[in-house]
Amino acid sequence: MGIVSARPDTRQTQGADALAPLMGPLAGLKGVRENEAQLIARAAGGPRVLDLLLHLPERYMVRRRVTRPSEAPPEAEVLIAVTIGTHKAGRSAQGRPYVRVRCEAGGEPLTAYMMNWQKAWAEKALPAGATRWFAGTLKAEQDEWVIVNPQVSVRPDGIPAIQPVWPLSGALTLPQVTRAMAAALALLPELPEWNDAPLLRREGWPGFAAAIRAIQAPEAEPGEAPRRRLAYDELLSGQVALGLVRRRSRERPGRALVGHGALRARALDAFGFPPTEAQRLAIAEIDADLAAPRRMLRLLQGDVGSGKTLVALMAMLRVAEAGAQAALMAPTELLARQHLRGFERLCGAAGVPVALLTGSVKGKARRRVLEGLADGSIPLVVGTHALFQEGVAFRDLALAVVDEQHRFGVAQRLMLAEKGEAVDMLVMTATPIPRTLLLTQWGEMAVSRLAGKPPGRQPITTRVVSQDRLPEIVARLGEAIGRDERAYWVVRAISGSERDDSVAAEDRFAELAARFPGQVGLAHGLQDIAVREAALADFAAGRTRILVATTVIEVGVDVPEATIMLIEQAERFGLAALHQLRGRVGRGSRPSSCLLVHSPGLTEGEKRRLMVLRDSEDGFVIAEEDLRARGGGDALGARQAGLPGARLLDPREDPEEYARLVDIAHRDAELLLGKDPGLSGPRGRAARLLLALFGHDISMAPLDAG
Ligand code: ADP
Ligand code: MG
Repeated sequence: MGIVSARPDTRQTQGADALAPLMGPLAGLKGVRENEAQLIARAAGGPRVLDLLLHLPERYMVRRRVTRPSEAPPEAEVLIAVTIGTHKAGRSAQGRPYVRVRCEAGGEPLTAYMMNWQKAWAEKALPAGATRWFAGTLKAEQDEWVIVNPQVSVRPDGIPAIQPVWPLSGALTLPQVTRAMAAALALLPELPEWNDAPLLRREGWPGFAAAIRAIQAPEAEPGEAPRRRLAYDELLSGQVALGLVRRRSRERPGRALVGHGALRARALDAFGFPPTEAQRLAIAEIDADLAAPRRMLRLLQGDVGSGKTLVALMAMLRVAEAGAQAALMAPTELLARQHLRGFERLCGAAGVPVALLTGSVKGKARRRVLEGLADGSIPLVVGTHALFQEGVAFRDLALAVVDEQHRFGVAQRLMLAEKGEAVDMLVMTATPIPRTLLLTQWGEMAVSRLAGKPPGRQPITTRVVSQDRLPEIVARLGEAIGRDERAYWVVRAISGSERDDSVAAEDRFAELAARFPGQVGLAHGLQDIAVREAALADFAAGRTRILVATTVIEVGVDVPEATIMLIEQAERFGLAALHQLRGRVGRGSRPSSCLLVHSPGLTEGEKRRLMVLRDSEDGFVIAEEDLRARGGGDALGARQAGLPGARLLDPREDPEEYARLVDIAHRDAELLLGKDPGLSGPRGRAARLLLALFGHDISMAPLDAG
């Protein structure tokens, strides 16, 4: 671990050592076999003892203690002491062997059926005359009480009265996890408290170890407090980590980038339009950041079509004016190439070389780009994450622009933030990110917003129509392309599959191409880039009029002549994705329309979601609605993106509570780091343990080293 190796301070080593047993493998736990450990690791999402301790139950089963079978409530789990009587082997109607064990409890008879047991085992495990504890549900059958395959214990405390029900995997059983959990809990040390005492009091939260015990081996149903405490710990850990990274980058002297404005002026001339008021404001904010001797971390948020690209180019040209280099990173090859096309003309006019670097730029071309970046003769570059791989060296990279950041994971983001000495960072997104999510992903970030759209852009009429009306729609489409309009036709899948009834691009393409020969193109993610590029170029140039596509065109594709966006099985897309797709039209001077074609038999909820889109063109409203209807996690792919805190508290389950805790954690982390930036005081040292517990100790290493 970073903490231990980087600073062999005995106190901290002791601290980190306290965690060593928790970081050990599950297979090392007493009484846990190798194959059990594997199953538990799969269920818990990790192979360490800590992963099991943080594997939270989905619910609890309460076992009532009864003395007589007749006291047992129907269908409920009970715990009952029995005296064993006689054994008899038998076979079920399906031929399965069982042993019938006659017992007696509180003066009433009870018969246990042990399926797949053999008589010899039963006589050994359940000897006649002995007392045993059974857990299970009792059934009354023809004047007798019956229990099938009870869990058996010699002692009353061998079976928990409150049974946590953990998510399982494979053949794993609850008794197995219960046993492993008991062994894991025995290793759980009392850790120094990293949380603020008044906060704990106010929220009524237990300590870390107590919270885990209350959840994993409860004596009473634990309520919400212990779980909240752990969720908060995870959020706080993320906030402290982000705070450390940010502080470190702030401490480094950034550089003041100032330009003369000549390159910009020439590029703007070639663009042909003045920047809008909103663009001018954003550019000014960015200029101030660039000119200040601090690192910039700024989010440029603007709805689809709001003109973010021009703002990014202006920032990059300012860096070129200052004699340094700037890179724009797009999430896909397609988008990188599209940006390049836009940049080439304007940069050409300004006399500034701009290059492309993606995975598919190979051989001589790649070498030329790499050389140009290394010797500084290429000041501007556009590419994918290939830009930040090893072997790519810049002479003087001063600005990284990241486009459509919601496609990148948290790890990639942190890596980027760490990249280079004093690289300013501008992140562009069309997805309005609520403050809560922004905080969990970046910590604190300055935000520029591009409200509205460039002038002359037409509104988009959105209609929700049933698939039944497709023939009619196709006829109208024919008329539209007859008027030289262009249409996107978006479907879910690339090719047909038996398991999935998604409409496939290849099928639709074949049908439409038969109907409108020579006028239909096809673009999807499995095509060769050259093939897809050619399809897009044909569509952009008007050689084809209908482009059948998957969501590869979701972001960035810019064909002003396209006026129709048709999306099939629209109910299966997220609102944010639909909004992005819709943003592909309405880019020219003609009025545009978006047709959300849904499958027959739409549910009320699905219909309501589509109506949100019909009734609003405001990305923020749509994202908020999506958040409300499905929770933040879904709207922004938070889970997939590894949103901090999502493991112990799912933002979808309780977005408001999530937001509240993130807020407290953020302020608390700032307070802690403000007072103790080296994390060397008592609370700081405890916080180091917190970072290690949630895998954020990497954020410490540079702090310790330097
Ligand atoms: P997004 O914010 O979605 O990336 P773009 O940068 O692609 O938006 O801009 C959308 C369209 O608006 C493009 O066709 C672009 O050329 C045009 N545009 C951008 N800024 C202006 C402006 N100031 N005046 C006129 N058109 C503009
Ligand atoms: Mg864009």
